[in-house]
Amino acid sequence: MRPLPSTSERAALTTHPCFNPRAAGRHGRLHLPVAPDCNISCNYCNRAYDCVHESRPGVSSTILAPEEAVARLDEVLRQMPWITVAGIAGPGDAFADPERTHATLDAIRRRYPSLHLCLSTNGLAVVDSIDELVRLKVGFVTVTVNAATPQVGARIYRWIQWQGERLRGVEAAALLLDRQLTAISRLAAARITVKVNTVVIPGINADQTTDIAKTAARLGATLHNLIPIIPVPGTPFASVSPPSSEQISALRRAGENHLPQMRHCMRCRADSAGLLGGHLSKNAPRCGFTLAA
Ligand code: SF4
Ligand code: SF4
Repeated sequence: MRPLPSTSERAALTTHPCFNPRAAGRHGRLHLPVAPDCNISCNYCNRAYDCVHESRPGVSSTILAPEEAVARLDEVLRQMPWITVAGIAGPGDAFADPERTHATLDAIRRRYPSLHLCLSTNGLAVVDSIDELVRLKVGFVTVTVNAATPQVGARIYRWIQWQGERLRGVEAAALLLDRQLTAISRLAAARITVKVNTVVIPGINADQTTDIAKTAARLGATLHNLIPIIPVPGTPFASVSPPSSEQISALRRAGENHLPQMRHCMRCRADSAGLLGGHLSKNAPRCGFTLAA
């Protein structure tokens, strides 16, 4: 169980638009797309395509180097001084190449000592960076946990990359789940506010979301965000039907018995800037621009 938030943690929660719906109309976030690679492969993910009309996680019009990310932050803060959060949300995983993430966060923290820093990750490798995240005063981390058991995880993850090896199946999913749960527990113990995302995939993991909420609450998470799957062409889950809004509502009501539920997520791109819902990046290239596969 997470300790009660400190005064400074409570103050931070009042100005993070994702963790606090009341802040969402007044405070914005900027996603800096500095993390192109991923250390796992989810059956719903396709980062090889970008379109200015496409708004979903994993999509970005560009990849920034750490120093370019700071320049982008400078520019966006000039235009949108109401932005209170700088985050890294892909388009890959923030800890597939932790050096890029650390360098970006370090540069931002030197320049903007009071800006909230926020990260999202699949949880495989974040534990190794927790000391650095504490040093850099990262306040918020989202860990995506899609399965409560390795058997279900094995249906969602094609592979994970671990210590130079590509693991598959139940063995890979068990390792990932163990790392995710350790990450939630250690992040919370370090007084970093943790949100858990779960992509809801009917027929695969919809009957596990409440167990995930229960476990995440026990380990110290603060918020749970059930995200309906977006079936993306070119992925193994391209033909899965997304859950209905009634199904998501019912799952949120069940999960709420254990962990507060987020209900205002906009499923943002990896280069979003502004208030939630304002997703198009400036100078976004034409439809069909292709990132590295
Ligand atoms: Fe894609 Fe994120 Fe899964 Fe990596 S963790 S494969 S970026 S959805
Ligand atoms: Fe916030 Fe959801 Fe957008 Fe992430 S995807 S920045 S949690 S609204």
